Amino acid sequence: MIDITILITLSYLIINITKNKNKCRCMMANKKNQQNHRNNHRRSMQRRWSAAKYREKKVKSQAHSSTENCDKLEGSRIINLDKLQQYVNELTTHAAKCGSQIILSGEQKSGLASIISSHCSKCSFIIPLTTSNKVSGPKGISRWEINLAAVWGQMCTGGGHSKLKDNMSILGVPVMSPKNFINTERSIGQWWQNQLQDEMKEARQKEKRLAIQRGDYHEGVPAITVIVDAGWSKQSHKHTYNAKSGVGVIIGKETGKILFIGVRNKYCTACSRGISKDKHHCFKNWNDSSSQMESDIILEGFCQAEEVHGVRYVQFIGDGDSSVYPTLLQQVPGWGRYIEKLECANHSCKCYRSALEKLVQEKPHYKGKGGLTGAMRQRLTSAARCAIRMRSQETDVKKAVKKLKQDLKNGPFHCFGVHTKCSPDFCQKAKEKLSEEHQESIGNEDVCEEFSDLIEGTCN
Ligand SMILES: [Zn+2]
Ligand SMILES: [Zn+2]
Ligand SMILES: [Zn+2]
Repeated sequence: MIDITILITLSYLIINITKNKNKCRCMMANKKNQQNHRNNHRRSMQRRWSAAKYREKKVKSQAHSSTENCDKLEGSRIINLDKLQQYVNELTTHAAKCGSQIILSGEQKSGLASIISSHCSKCSFIIPLTTSNKVSGPKGISRWEINLAAVWGQMCTGGGHSKLKDNMSILGVPVMSPKNFINTERSIGQWWQNQLQDEMKEARQKEKRLAIQRGDYHEGVPAITVIVDAGWSKQSHKHTYNAKSGVGVIIGKETGKILFIGVRNKYCTACSRGISKDKHHCFKNWNDSSSQMESDIILEGFCQAEEVHGVRYVQFIGDGDSSVYPTLLQQVPGWGRYIEKLECANHSCKCYRSALEKLVQEKPHYKGKGGLTGAMRQRLTSAARCAIRMRSQETDVKKAVKKLKQDLKNGPFHCFGVHTKCSPDFCQKAKEKLSEEHQESIGNEDVCEEFSDLIEGTCN
C-alpha cells in the first residue's frame, strides 16, 4: 500500500516536473538575451494559442459537418432489440456523464445491416449502433443475421433479389447488392443441404434400429418398408410429361421421415445463355425424358440402401400407375427381385375417381338425377376410402383383405340404396336389417355391375 502511494506521488512529481521544465525553458536563458527570449516566448505563446483556436474551430466544423451527414441518414432500418438496448445503455451512461446531446453522424451499410455512428456534441465521443448480430455460416464465414434472414425468406417464398429490393425500397430499407445476395443464397443452400443430410442419416439409423427391434430381416440384412413418390415442376395432367425438373423421395414408413431425396434437372438458365460449365454452378443433370426421372431417382436411392446404409427396402408403397416397380425389380442388384409393391390407399382412391370420371365421359347417359352425378362420384370414392380405412385397422390381415374386396365391390350398391350385401360393420341400413323392399331401385343395376368390374380391376 505504501509502495503504491509512493509510486503515485513520484509519478505525480515527475509529471509536474516535466510540466515545469516545459514552462521554464526560457527562464534558463542567459540574462543578456532575456528580453529577446521574452519576445520569442510571447510570439511562441501566440502561435500556440492560435493553433489551439484552430484545432477548436476544426472540431466544431467537423461536428457541424457530421450533423450535416446526419441529415443524409434517411429511410428506415431493421434493428435487433438487444443491440438497441446495448446502445441505449451506452448512450444514457455517456449523456448522464457529459450532459450533452448525442447526434447520429454516419453509417456503414452492409445490406440490411448497418453500423450507425453517433457522437457526443460536447466531447465528440463516438458511440456506434450495430443493427444486427453476426452469425457463423457453414464455411465459418460470419454473416449478418438480418441479411441471412432476408435471403432465407426469399428462398422460402420463391422470390429473389429483385423482389426483396422491391419490398424493401417501399419500406425505405436499404438492401444488399445482387452479388452479395447470391453468395448468401449459396451459403444458406449449403447449410440446408448439410442439415438435410444429417437428418436423413439419423432417420435411416432409426428405421434400421426399429427393423432390428421387430426382427425384420431379409437374408440377414435389416429390412424396412418405404413410401416412394415424386413431384414435377409442371403438372402433367396425365398426358404431357415434359417438366424440366423433378424431385423424388423415399420416406421411411415407421418414422415418416425422408431417407433419400434426388433431383433431376433438364434445364439450366446459365447453360442456355451460353455460359461455359466452368464459369457457373450448373444444376443440369438429366438429358432423358421427364417421365423417367422418378424411376431413376428412386432406383438411385434403392441402390444405395444396402451398400451405404446397411438396410434393404423390401416393401414399398407407391402410386398405382408408376413405372418405378419394374425398374426396381430389374435393376436393383441382388435383392431387387424380392421387392414387393404395396398400393397406396390415396393413390388407389385417386385412380378409382379418375376411372369414374372416364366412365361418365365415355357414357354420358349415366349422368343426371339418380345416376352418376358429381356428388355420387364423390360419395362412391368416399365409401371406398372408408372401407380401406376400416379394414386396415383389423388384425387378421387375410380376413381383412377378403372383406375389403367384398366391401369395394358392394360400394356402388350401397351408394345407390341396395343394402342386401352390405356389411353391418359400417352400413347403418344393414345393421337395422332394412331389406330391399324399401329401396326402389332406380334401374341402375347395370351401372352397379359395371362398377363392380371396374373395382375388380382396381382390387387386382
Ligand atoms: Zn461527451
Ligand atoms: Zn448450367
Ligand atoms: Zn349399405
